Amino acid sequence: MKSPSGERIEELRAHLSGNIVLPGDTNYDEVREIWNAMISRRPAVIVQCASADDVPLAIAFARSNDLEISIRGAGHNIAGNAICNDGLMIDLSGMTKVDVDTGARIARIEPGATLGNIDEATQAHGLALPVGINSTTGIAGLTLGGGFGWLTRKYGMTIDNLLSADLVTAEGEKLHLSEGENSDLFWAIRGGGGNFGVITQFEFSLHPVGPEVLAGLLVFPIAEAKEVMSQFREFVKTTPEELSVWVVLRKAPPLPFLPEEVHGKEVVVLALCHCGDVKEGEKLIEPLYGFGTAYGTHVGVMPFAGWQQAFDPLLTPGARNYWKSHNFTELSDGLFDTIIEYVGTLPSPQCEIFFAHIAGKANRIASDATAYTHRDAQFVLNVHGRWDSPEEDQKCIDWSRAFFDASLPYASAGVYINFMTEEEGDRIAAAFGSNYERLAQVKKQYDPGNVFHLNQNIKT
Ligand SMILES: Cc1cc2nc3c(=O)[nH]c(=O)nc-3n(C[C@H](O)[C@H](O)[C@H](O)COP(=O)(O)OP(=O)(O)OC[C@H]3O[C@@H](n4cnc5c(N)ncnc54)[C@H](O)[C@@H]3O)c2cc1C
Repeated sequence: MKSPSGERIEELRAHLSGNIVLPGDTNYDEVREIWNAMISRRPAVIVQCASADDVPLAIAFARSNDLEISIRGAGHNIAGNAICNDGLMIDLSGMTKVDVDTGARIARIEPGATLGNIDEATQAHGLALPVGINSTTGIAGLTLGGGFGWLTRKYGMTIDNLLSADLVTAEGEKLHLSEGENSDLFWAIRGGGGNFGVITQFEFSLHPVGPEVLAGLLVFPIAEAKEVMSQFREFVKTTPEELSVWVVLRKAPPLPFLPEEVHGKEVVVLALCHCGDVKEGEKLIEPLYGFGTAYGTHVGVMPFAGWQQAFDPLLTPGARNYWKSHNFTELSDGLFDTIIEYVGTLPSPQCEIFFAHIAGKANRIASDATAYTHRDAQFVLNVHGRWDSPEEDQKCIDWSRAFFDASLPYASAGVYINFMTEEEGDRIAAAFGSNYERLAQVKKQYDPGNVFHLNQNIKT
């Protein structure tokens, strides 16, 4: 491991408002943990930033000591690029402030904030930002890749609500990005990942949501999966954008509203959230109950911030995870048959296949308006391989890959960069699609030396 001298470290420490964590420190192992337990790396230096001013100091230190740089928001990304071996990790996870301007319906958010931090601050005022569906995910990585969740059909992707951002370049320059200022970079960070610099603040517009919404789960036997998915396909063609219904296929967790004998059995789940008038929502979702003979349902009026945490118990950190993802413009019978076949051979009780329905506002934005290009995607499918012990690695990874290959013929082109593993370098061009060339030009201008390369990297 390259180790900068103690003297240099002490000099950096003296200028930082945050902390430095080094190998051998008692909290080193805790600080270098990320969500995906498949990835364990040992940085030479971790700079825990406490303010935007710490960021240029960390970048300059890394560069002058020839250390590779990784950037960590909340550390959720499956690829694990937040952490590096022998380099310097810029750790922003302590910068979690969320300021809400209720009059202007704007939130200013630091890059270490989790979606839970954001929901808590915004929902206190009946406002919300469209983000993802797991409260411990970080806003930084989520936004830089695009960001979708329960509110995307109605209010677009997370990037579609970004008003401005502050970024520190590889040269340590602080830039404000918006439609009117450094607009090339503002375009690039909305889907181009962490390629261009370190974001120290995001500014988003918010929408009135809740604080209570109609949400919940309907759980059907796997034997009815084809019927349920076929009816779902028809149903979502006309549902108003306030309503989002996603499909999850997995072994039933021990949910209290399911009979005990169903726990551990393969099931098809409809997960829904309606962000408009509750009475309207209740009418809209009535047909879902007739899609099959439900084992159990748990649907009702609940705090939106609570629904945003509903899946947290299934997505805790510390497990081993391997994902493969496709976009879809339509769902075919062949895809349904393939899904059902692979759900019949789930290699661990935590593995699942889900598809999110995101059609709506995000589709009405031009594919070159932001770096995120997949504006035709109606559904995002993810095969979520998840298990606990390293001995299960091979069988779970093999199953995920085999399903991915078998479902490829039904997918549309492209992939969501936030669902890509570190080994999927060959999919980066497809992930950025027709925007790759323009992204490469922006990269060449602002980071010609590829200082920020631990990401889904854009080559110039
Ligand atoms: C359980 C789970 C559920 C998820 N659900 C959803 C979902 O519903 N919708 C959705 O859209 N996505 C979802 N995701 C994917 C999620 O968007 C990505 O994992 C995202 O990258 C997480 O952001 P983070 O800041 O926590 O990640 P990190 O691992 O900290 O960062 C990811 C990468 O982003 C870059 N980066 C991070 N911070 C900065 C910064 N400040 N400046 C510049 N670059 C930076 C770096 O390249 C870093 O490697 C989910 C992920 C998980 C694990």
